[in-house]
Amino acid sequence: MALTIAIIGRPNVGKSTFFNRLVGKRLAIVDDTPGVTRDRREAMGSLGDYKFKIIDTAGLEEGKGKSLSARMWQQTEKAIEEADFSLFMIDARAGITPLDKHFAELLRRGNHPMILVANKAEGRAGEEGLYDAYSLGLGAPVAISAEHGEGLAELIEAFDEMC
Ligand code: GDP
Ligand code: MG
Repeated sequence: MALTIAIIGRPNVGKSTFFNRLVGKRLAIVDDTPGVTRDRREAMGSLGDYKFKIIDTAGLEEGKGKSLSARMWQQTEKAIEEADFSLFMIDARAGITPLDKHFAELLRRGNHPMILVANKAEGRAGEEGLYDAYSLGLGAPVAISAEHGEGLAELIEAFDEMC
């Protein structure tokens, strides 16, 4: 059975950008508009020697009468149930938001195996958010830059610990 990994987190943290990097094709739509990836996408991706099925979640399913976070969670939950482990992504530049905290709480309750990933950590602008990420209670974040391809060696080490 192939390894399956899901990228989860609130809109605009860089999930699709990282998905594209792992897949190596521009399959996911990347946009400044939060949640622009409407459908879940999956493809084969690789990182170091790892080959896996990668799932990019959008988190904006239509659902009348349900809150945004409830709709996001619905799709996220489907993905993490399928995945061997998840990459829970936060935005080191934006810091930790209430929606990040909400997600973290649900993830902790479900006891899902995951790696906390702090994206947009290139340069100094991400330092504070990286530090804040510890407050989620999910352990030490792995700092990466999906856009610049930084932190990938550290992420591979985190994969080694999961597999
Ligand atoms: P998603 O909603 O989580 O899928 O986020 P996207 O991948 O669509 O990215 C949202 C925005 O963040 C886009 O403008 C990206 O160019 C930007 N972004 C993604 N990764 C990085 C990164 O590593 N550094 C910086 N500075 N911006 C990034
Ligand atoms: Mg996206």
